[in-house]
Amino acid sequence: MRRCLYCQHTNPAAASDCDECGMPLPARAEQASEDRQRRFMWFCLGLTLFCVSMFFWLPRSIY
Ligand SMILES: [Zn+2]
Repeated sequence: MRRCLYCQHTNPAAASDCDECGMPLPARAEQASEDRQRRFMWFCLGLTLFCVSMFFWLPRSIY
């Protein structure tokens, strides 16, 4: 399934042009955005782990 960027019409994966408005569909755009999302998710996960480890590793301030 590939979504048209112009009219948001959902086209079959084999289609190269939008059924609704006839605009050419971007090649592998969905796959690329999925990869980007996954990379962003791992980045967030790594950042969270880093923050947690810093929280326990750094010395606490003394009250
Ligand atoms: Zn369209």
